[in-house]
Amino acid sequence: MQTSSELKNLLARIDRKSYPAYKDTRGEYQFSGYVLSIDHVQGDPFAAPSKLSIRVDGRTAAFPPAFYEKPWRRVALQDELTRQFARRAAQVSFQAKGSGQSGLVAVSRCGQEVLERTACSLDPKRGDILLRLEVGFPANGRTINARELEKILFEFLPRCVQGALFYRNLDAKRLQDVAGLAEDQQALRTMLPKLGLCAFVANGSILPRASGVSAKPMEGAVAFQSPPELAVTLDLPRRGRITGMGIPKGVTLIVGGGYHGKSTLLKALELGVYDHIAGDGREYVVTDPTAVKIRAEDGRSIRRTDISMFINGLPNGKDTAAFDTEDASGSTSQAANVVESLEAGASLLLMDEDTSATNFMVRDELMQRVIHRDMEPITPFLDRVRELYDRYGVSTILVAGSSGAYFHAADRIIQMDRYVPRDITALAKREAEAFPLTGAPLEPAKAPRFDRRPKPSPEFREGERVKLKALGRDGVSLNRETIDLRYVEQLADGEQTAALGYCLLYAQRRLLDGKRTLRQVVEELESLLDRQGLAALCESRAGVPFLARPRGQEIFACLNRCRSLRC
Ligand code: ADP
Ligand code: MG
Repeated sequence: MQTSSELKNLLARIDRKSYPAYKDTRGEYQFSGYVLSIDHVQGDPFAAPSKLSIRVDGRTAAFPPAFYEKPWRRVALQDELTRQFARRAAQVSFQAKGSGQSGLVAVSRCGQEVLERTACSLDPKRGDILLRLEVGFPANGRTINARELEKILFEFLPRCVQGALFYRNLDAKRLQDVAGLAEDQQALRTMLPKLGLCAFVANGSILPRASGVSAKPMEGAVAFQSPPELAVTLDLPRRGRITGMGIPKGVTLIVGGGYHGKSTLLKALELGVYDHIAGDGREYVVTDPTAVKIRAEDGRSIRRTDISMFINGLPNGKDTAAFDTEDASGSTSQAANVVESLEAGASLLLMDEDTSATNFMVRDELMQRVIHRDMEPITPFLDRVRELYDRYGVSTILVAGSSGAYFHAADRIIQMDRYVPRDITALAKREAEAFPLTGAPLEPAKAPRFDRRPKPSPEFREGERVKLKALGRDGVSLNRETIDLRYVEQLADGEQTAALGYCLLYAQRRLLDGKRTLRQVVEELESLLDRQGLAALCESRAGVPFLARPRGQEIFACLNRCRSLRC
C-alpha cells in the first residue's frame, strides 16, 4: 500500500503525458480514514470509465452493529449508503473537465426497490465498508490532465466519503428509519405464510406510478383501502399496528371495468417481492417472495420443457412432455412460463389478461361444442388453476375483467371499482350458479418432470475470451447470443440483468456438466451469492462491474431463455 502523497507525486509526474501513462496509478493508497483502490484504468477518455473502490475500516465508519448484523438490515443500510454517496457524487460529477468521460464520478443509480448491489457492501462481522465507483480520468484529447484528477481524488472524493460513509456525519434518525422499515418489511414477509396469506397491501398505499417512464408514486392518487371482508390487522416491530388487504392463498380473481386499477394492483403485487424505500407508496405491499408474473411471450425459445399439462396432441406430432421450439406461440410460451415457474419454486402465479394468450386462458362453451376437446391441443389454464393449488399448493392471482369463466374456480373475487377494491365473492358466486359448468371434469395432469441437465458449451471454457454485455434492463448478450428478458417483468433494474449475464457465464464455466439439474445449478448459484456476494460471479481483471442481485426465479428465467443451452 502506498500513501496518498505518493499518489499525488505520481500524478504530477504523469501530467501532460499520453493517456496510457494513467495505467501507472493502479494500486492502493492510504487516505485519511479510508483506502482508495484504483482497480482498473480506462484505455482512453472515451472508453468505459475507470473502476475505483473505497474501503473504510469498521472502526472508522463506526456504524452500530445493530444496523448491519441482520442480512435484511445490512442490505437496507448498503442501499442507503449507496444513495447517500450517489447524491454527493452527482454534485461533483463533471466538475473536473476534459474530453469524453473526463470528470465523471458515479455509483449505481438506485430505483424504488432496495436491492443488494456490488456498489456497496458491508462486512457483517466487522462493519468494514467497500464502496465501488467509476471515475472518468480527465484528459484533453488524449493528453493526461492529472491536475483535474487530483481535484477528484483529493478534494471531491474525500468529501463524498466523509459525508456518506462515516456514521458520525450521517443523519442518525434517518438511518434508524431505514433500519426500522427493513425490519417491518421483513416481519411482514415472515408473517404472511403463517396467516395463510400470499400477499398483503396496506391501507393508505399508493399503487399507481407517476407515468409509464417514472417509477415514482403518482401524485393525488386514490390511496388503497381494503374491503372489510379481507382486512387484516398486524403488529409490526417498528410501525406497530397496520391494517390492509390480506389476499389468502388459493385462487383470487381481480375483476372490474376497464381503467379501474386492476393492472396497477397486479403490478404492485409483482414488485412486492422486493422491499421498497420510504416514500415509495408500496413500502407495505408485500407478496410471497417466490411469486412469478406469467404472461404470453410469443417468439421465445423453449428447451425440453414438459408442457403436457396444458398442451397435448399437437398436429405436427411434437412431444409436449419435452417440448422444444425456437419460436413459441402465445399459448405454448405461456404454458412453458407456468411450468418453468413451478420448477423455479414459485408458490404464487400472477397473471393479467392484458398480457395473456386468450386461448391459453379460456375456451368458451360454444367453441367447445363446435370444436371437440379431442381436436384442441390446449387445456386452458382455467381447467388447471384449481389443480395447481389443490395438488401443488400454488396459488394464482389473476386479473380477468372480460370473462366470468373463472368465477367457479376462484376462492375470492375482488372487484376494482374506481381504484377501490370490493370483495364481491358472494355475489359473483351466486351469479355463477346460474351458469353451471358443463363437460366432464378433467383428469388431473401428470406432474411435470423437472429433469433437464444442461451441458456446458465449449465456447465458454476457462481461458476463452468471452464477450458479455448488458443491454439495459431488457437483455444481455453473451458472445453472439442475445438473451431477451423484456418479458421477465419482475426484473426491476438493469444491474440485475447484468448480474444474470454473469450468472449464466459462471454456470457455463463452473456448474453445467450434464449431471446437475437446472434446479441444482440455480441452487448452487444462489448459495454462492449468499456466501460470497455478487462480486464472486466475476473474476475479472477489469474490476467488478455494478451488479444487483436477481432472485432465483429470474436466474431460472434467464437460463430458460438462453437459446444455446443444450439440455
Ligand atoms: P385496468 O387494468 O383496470 O384497465 P389500470 O390499472 O391500467 O386499469 O389503471 C388505469 C389508469 O388509472 C392508469 O393510468 C393508472 O395509473 C391509473 N390509476 C390506477 N390506480 C390508481 C389510483 N389508485 N389512483 C389514481 N389513478 C390510478
Ligand atoms: Mg389492465
